[in-house]
Amino acid sequence: PSRDRAGENPLLERHHHNFGAASVLFYRDPIEMVSASGCWMEAADGTRYLDFYNNVPSVGHCHPRVVEAVSCQLARLNIHTRYLNQCIETYAERLKATLSRTLDNLVMTCTGSEANDLALRIAALKSGNRGVIVTENAYHGNTEAVTAISPSALKRAPLSPHVVTVPAPSVDAFGSDITTGFTTAVKQAIETLRKRGYGLAAFICDAIFSSDGIHADPTDLLKPSIAAVHAAGGIYIADEVQPGFGRTGDAYWGFERHTVTPDIVTMGKPMGNGFPLAGLAVNADALACFCEEYGYFNTFGGNPVACAAGQAVLEVMEEEQLQANAQHIGAHLGTRLEALRHYDRRITAVRGAGLFIGIDLCHSGETATPSPELTSAVINGLRERRVLIGAAGRFGNTLKIRPPLCLDEQEADFFVEALSDTLASLSVKSR
Ligand code: PMP
Repeated sequence: PSRDRAGENPLLERHHHNFGAASVLFYRDPIEMVSASGCWMEAADGTRYLDFYNNVPSVGHCHPRVVEAVSCQLARLNIHTRYLNQCIETYAERLKATLSRTLDNLVMTCTGSEANDLALRIAALKSGNRGVIVTENAYHGNTEAVTAISPSALKRAPLSPHVVTVPAPSVDAFGSDITTGFTTAVKQAIETLRKRGYGLAAFICDAIFSSDGIHADPTDLLKPSIAAVHAAGGIYIADEVQPGFGRTGDAYWGFERHTVTPDIVTMGKPMGNGFPLAGLAVNADALACFCEEYGYFNTFGGNPVACAAGQAVLEVMEEEQLQANAQHIGAHLGTRLEALRHYDRRITAVRGAGLFIGIDLCHSGETATPSPELTSAVINGLRERRVLIGAAGRFGNTLKIRPPLCLDEQEADFFVEALSDTLASLSVKSR
């Protein structure tokens, strides 16, 4: 949509000239950013924006500890990954300490897509099958194999027959007994893949169902589905690119909220606080089987500089108690948003865990119909009030709250006031 504004903005014109149809910019008038710190980003015109759309700089934009760690390591040594180096092993051990002992090997990559791509290959080899189950609006990355399991990234392209979707866990999809409904859907998907001759390689999901519109509950959801997946010979891949690293407040990893142990955990985004660092954790035997068949080498994945960034992130998380902060500030934000929901009937649901919250926006008629138009108007209204936020979900009507984990109460309140003002400006329909 920014294309029609290119004539008014020379930088935007250069951008479209350089990046063409693959360009992905926010807003019709995209913002030129110049710097950031904590939860705030500064634009070229001097405007400061509160960043509610970002789980990459999770410990805070340009956190001095991460900046220093990366700069020092970059000045000392940065190489491909075929040498021994203390900082790599120290980081790997510290990261593994956050996971189950059964996930005793790591493979480091540069992106979440590469991690999921490799996870799928390990799953296919281990199971001898090709079929994959994902949620209806899932996103798992950008390689050919993971685009195929990312329905939200397929525009006109059809879903490949080796991929079967299940609805994300919600009352809308399954009624009040979400767990039973979801388990039945997973079992049906397994059966469909069997009938199609693919069998089941993997069930992959992000435990907070982020691109499906954020569904944090119920937390007894995954256990029976995973039992069915294992019974069918498949594996469970927990894609922690979104919920991982303390964001949900009540757990370090999203899957922990469901008290399940994945066969593979993939991770990325917040892992290096913006420095490209991603990877997967897997059982040593499964990895050994894979490596008997295939070589795997990632030139940049987990290089010393990336590991220095990752190590600094883990240290800051602990020292600044950011997981606890996510829980505390997330609860405060949740309470205030619930109050707003009671006042404004266009807000039909507030869901989430910690600092990962979704707000559904609907038309205020007799029956609540999802309103992507209102959501888009709110996103633009919030921008005018200096808050950056995006949307998710099947209908694009869920505001996706994902600020850095160092958010404080004043900043949370700043957002609630801005949202309340924006909704008021778009004609209030109070209860
Ligand atoms: N999995 C999930 C759940 C994601 O949200 C994303 C990125 N949005 C990815 C995987 C892919 O990660 P990357 O962009 O680092 O390849």
